[in-house]
Amino acid sequence: MNDEYTPMLTLDAWRHINNFQPEGSVDNFGDPWGMDYRLIETVDAMRDYAGVPFFVHCGMEPRAAGYHPEGMALDGHFQGLHPLEMFEIAQRFDRLNGIGVYMYWNWQGKICGGIHVDTRPKRLGRDFDARWGCFEKGQYVKIDIGFIRKAAAITF
Ligand SMILES: [Zn+2]
Repeated sequence: MNDEYTPMLTLDAWRHINNFQPEGSVDNFGDPWGMDYRLIETVDAMRDYAGVPFFVHCGMEPRAAGYHPEGMALDGHFQGLHPLEMFEIAQRFDRLNGIGVYMYWNWQGKICGGIHVDTRPKRLGRDFDARWGCFEKGQYVKIDIGFIRKAAAITF
């Protein structure tokens, strides 16, 4: 398989995925058949690495901008982990060219934070990875020591 966007499209593609299924779980992929195979494969591997459940809040979704409409972005959280720990895990996976850390997201009514991950195109050796943090809706900040200190002070 080349390293370009490939939609999941069929149940056969989903059968290669260990930890997620397209439908019938609490995970919300939006249109599971349009999700980028590379993204789902990577999130599957990330969940194996973490050893704790990963819940998908949002996948393919019509929006004005970004990579969710393309099926190349996904939001979610690891059960019981701090968002900074989720970020550290996601950073280990080369295909995740975009990662956002969200401190205010909730899941089933409980604030848990979470991460956005995406497989946006990147020219190796020319483009940098996109990284950002978010304490409240629409307020994006860079991930620097100030962000890390402030985020680390938040407990869940
Ligand atoms: Zn997102």
